[in-house]
Amino acid sequence: MLFTSLNLSKPIIQALESAGYHTPTPIQEQAIPTILAHHDVLACAQTGTGKTAAFSLPIIERLLASKNEGAYQGPKALILAPTRELAIQIGENIAVYVSRTHIKQTVVFGGVSVVNQIAELRKRPEIVVATPGRLLDLLNQRALSLKAVNFLVLDEADRMLDMGFIKDIQRIISNIPAERQTLLFSATMPKEIESLANAILKNPRHIAV
Ligand code: AMP
Repeated sequence: MLFTSLNLSKPIIQALESAGYHTPTPIQEQAIPTILAHHDVLACAQTGTGKTAAFSLPIIERLLASKNEGAYQGPKALILAPTRELAIQIGENIAVYVSRTHIKQTVVFGGVSVVNQIAELRKRPEIVVATPGRLLDLLNQRALSLKAVNFLVLDEADRMLDMGFIKDIQRIISNIPAERQTLLFSATMPKEIESLANAILKNPRHIAV
């Protein structure tokens, strides 16, 4: 299979080709059509499987297809990751995938000053990649609103729970409209992930690679 058969727009295909990607990985083959069809997803996938593109590409495609509904109210896609390293890596991947579009994104994480991150949020990114603690800080400071979020991704959800982020995640989700598409990626599926999935996913499609 080729990326060109996955119903992705030309700017995305061109960006993938210039990055040297031609064939989707198994998780991409399964997740991209499912996410484009508006389903919630519960995916069991390790790092290195191509999971970042599996959730990012269809979200970018949906953002490209969506009409601009007036004034900016905040990001439309929020991606939560356990560590700054992973958040930065996701942001670097997305920067490649959106490079031929008008879509803006930014990454926020703890351990550094908020000043630059607040300045980046003022540039009205459609996509925000965040670690939970810093995102809550920024929400408390009213540096962004999550009321326009249509797409929520929890990446490496098992690690986020291991790191004690469950309360932060619940508080973040309480700021996001219930009407949204939610994608949960986890390397393992312990009971805690199953109950989180039950609480935040609606009729999810299950994907395992
Ligand atoms: P991930 O599992 O998202 O961390 O991705 C693992 C690595 O594979 C990253 O360096 C990606 O840039 C790369 N990658 C993702 N999808 C593809 C693909 N379809 N073809 C080639 N490389 C890919």
